[in-house]
Amino acid sequence: MRIIFLRLNMFEHIATDAMKPILFGIIRQLTPEQHEILFLDERAERLPETLDCDILAMSVETYTAKRAYILAKKYRRPGMTIVMGGFHAAVCAKEMLRYADTVLIGDAEETWRPFLRDCEQKSPKAIYSGGERSGLIPAADVPGVYRHRYHGIGVCQISRGCKFNCDFCSIKTMYHCVRRKSPEAVAAELRAMKERVLFFADDNLFYDRNSAMALLRAITPLRKRWACQISMDAARDDELLAAMRKAGCFLVLMGFESLNADSLAEMHKSANIVQEYEALIRRIYSHGLMIYGTFVLGCDSDEPDVFEKTFDFAVRNHIAVTNFNPLIPMPGTGVYKRMEQENRLRYAHWWLSDTYRYGETAFLPKHMTPEELQAGCLSMRTRFYSLSCVLKRLFGAPHHLYLRNIGVFLLANIISGREIQAKQGQLLGGVLGDEADADQTEYRAPGA
Ligand code: SF4
Repeated sequence: MRIIFLRLNMFEHIATDAMKPILFGIIRQLTPEQHEILFLDERAERLPETLDCDILAMSVETYTAKRAYILAKKYRRPGMTIVMGGFHAAVCAKEMLRYADTVLIGDAEETWRPFLRDCEQKSPKAIYSGGERSGLIPAADVPGVYRHRYHGIGVCQISRGCKFNCDFCSIKTMYHCVRRKSPEAVAAELRAMKERVLFFADDNLFYDRNSAMALLRAITPLRKRWACQISMDAARDDELLAAMRKAGCFLVLMGFESLNADSLAEMHKSANIVQEYEALIRRIYSHGLMIYGTFVLGCDSDEPDVFEKTFDFAVRNHIAVTNFNPLIPMPGTGVYKRMEQENRLRYAHWWLSDTYRYGETAFLPKHMTPEELQAGCLSMRTRFYSLSCVLKRLFGAPHHLYLRNIGVFLLANIISGREIQAKQGQLLGGVLGDEADADQTEYRAPGA
């Protein structure tokens, strides 16, 4: 069989911040050699007008769902089986089946091969569900799979799942427990990677102190340089931060989310204590690590002054890179259920709407209008990546000027600033235009 596997973008756009899609390497290893498979990444190349294959596969997130459905309609040919999986499949499988023949729910490690076997018999089922039992396949470079360079940055995934349960986060819709590779397996995977700089794609790299220290000991001799995502509890541990630095870490991505304790409680962000933030930042800096901070704005406890307070905090503390995001009701999360119960969703399904645009507020906030939330976040993002603000943050923290950090700092700021301008206001996916979808996506103005 001839298979084409698509990594989608939110809309037609060659992105400069695309990371290597490790799912390609995993799918290649799961696909028997007799099948021909071509991987296309819409973030790195323009897709052809037509696709000739027996199976068209797409991994779908909520933000790329409409794009997946538009492309399914565009590329569908007689005899072609269209299959979709990914995070969105875990909560919206029924919706997907309007456009796909088959939906894979859960890990590809458990669903991809049974699906292919049934395709060989010309009888694929509508739904394949995997549990969380499989081991995690190393995603080391497989020849011929990655046709783009992705800035020469490797990607490695150590674990799936997160020990926390933040109310706005999609991770628990897919993973209910945490599975991890052994430190030895991770070291072997890193050794096989040709890239010297890499990103750990885990939502939270550290499960507990002992496993974290074992991992760091195993990868220190490899002399890689890496960035990762951590929760605030890891930042309280000096010894751990020192071991991270020694093992090659140069940047940590951390969810500060809010400076408002009530908003943190609302989000169930149990690892965060606002009063500690500045001390923890200083501790991280003392180990020469840069911070990529993420913030969520528009919670029910947020008043209109939240924008200036958050912006001042990020600049005053010289955070290297940030994401100022409006709260998004992602399907399947506690936030979505609450907004639905309180009749505060502006679109029944914002990700399907033919009018919803990237950066727009999808719900009715309590203490500001949707437009104020949207404009507040955009203003913060724009000002944060202005030249004067970049220079202020660069020179404000001495470790940003270290030879090993300054290039990353500047490149990350240039790329983030550029991508924000490219994405803001874009129609997600394009126009789906189905009557079947139109009745699900009516727009609701505040007060309506
Ligand atoms: S700590 Fe991060 S990955 Fe884990 S549930 Fe919260 S937001 Fe999601």
